[in-house]
Amino acid sequence: MPFSSLIGQDRARGALRSALARATLHHAYLFGGPAGVGKATLARLVAQAANCEGGPLLAPPEGEGGTGGGKPAARDPCERCGPCRKIARGTHPDVLLVSEERVMARAGRYEPKAGRTPSRDIVVDQVRDLIDGALALKRFEGRWRFVILDPADAMNVQAQNALLKTLEEPPEQTTLVLVSAKPELLLPTVRSRCAQVAFAPLDPAVVAERLRAEGRSAEEARLAASLSGGSLGWALAQDPRTLAAREAAVAAAALLDPDDAASWIAFARDRGEDRESARECLELLEVYLRDVLVAQAGSPVGLALEDLAPRSRAAAAALAPEEVLRRLEGVRAASAALKQNAAPVLALEHMLIGWFHGAR
Ligand SMILES: [Zn+2]
Repeated sequence: MPFSSLIGQDRARGALRSALARATLHHAYLFGGPAGVGKATLARLVAQAANCEGGPLLAPPEGEGGTGGGKPAARDPCERCGPCRKIARGTHPDVLLVSEERVMARAGRYEPKAGRTPSRDIVVDQVRDLIDGALALKRFEGRWRFVILDPADAMNVQAQNALLKTLEEPPEQTTLVLVSAKPELLLPTVRSRCAQVAFAPLDPAVVAERLRAEGRSAEEARLAASLSGGSLGWALAQDPRTLAAREAAVAAAALLDPDDAASWIAFARDRGEDRESARECLELLEVYLRDVLVAQAGSPVGLALEDLAPRSRAAAAALAPEEVLRRLEGVRAASAALKQNAAPVLALEHMLIGWFHGAR
């Protein structure tokens, strides 16, 4: 996989390729940003590029796009040599992957001490094993050793504290990469010892383009991308049929009759059956109402929910923009209430009462 396959993260990729090329790799990085935007992919690419046997580390002066200005950049890993293949499989002895105790135990890569039930955390025993085990030894075969902690925020406080000294003074030719979708959960003392690399949510258009390249229809790609919050990983994991069913639910909400209270109570019961489906319904309603605003503004930008375009255009003509904004606020308030553990049915009902009866 070439560096260019990592889409939409030009700054993060450029910084790491340039550090590889100049041999100025930091001893500890914190890759922070939403799930599914390429953090773990870049960590693996960097480990491969640093250990690849397939030729010089530097790309030709022109390089390929993405790093800009003819700066030196690491060339792509070859993907064929022993180190590249082992790193892709997760079996390279100098590229160590640390994840939650439970996940590693299930994969047969870690056994909790004294028959303890493995936890959801990265625990202090794992960190001590790493420091007193692999990191205390010489490198086996690699040019540069990597420790990839993913998700780093799964480290409990003791585990983080046990890692501090190593973050400050790691063994020679060793880089630690902390990967996290919630870097704010890490101790400030851990964060401050890492070079922080920020990953941004992807542009929905970029997500849609990649989904098209994966063989999704234009319709599916647009719908999944508009709901993805910029996470390609999320969009790729969605079943198109489920997405279509969710879209039908929004269509139903758009058609609710303000004077038929029984129909919207039924809607709230139906969509509020569980927290997750209520959350998804609210997310879609938000996208739909944004479409209504886009249609009202006469914007040349396409609507996110193309299937619902006739409905959103009709709503755009029927409702005043302030009314659409008010409903949008209602959706956001319901989402916020749901996050704070409100009962899903009540959150939806309250939202609909607000929509149709102006209650706050
Ligand atoms: Zn290689």
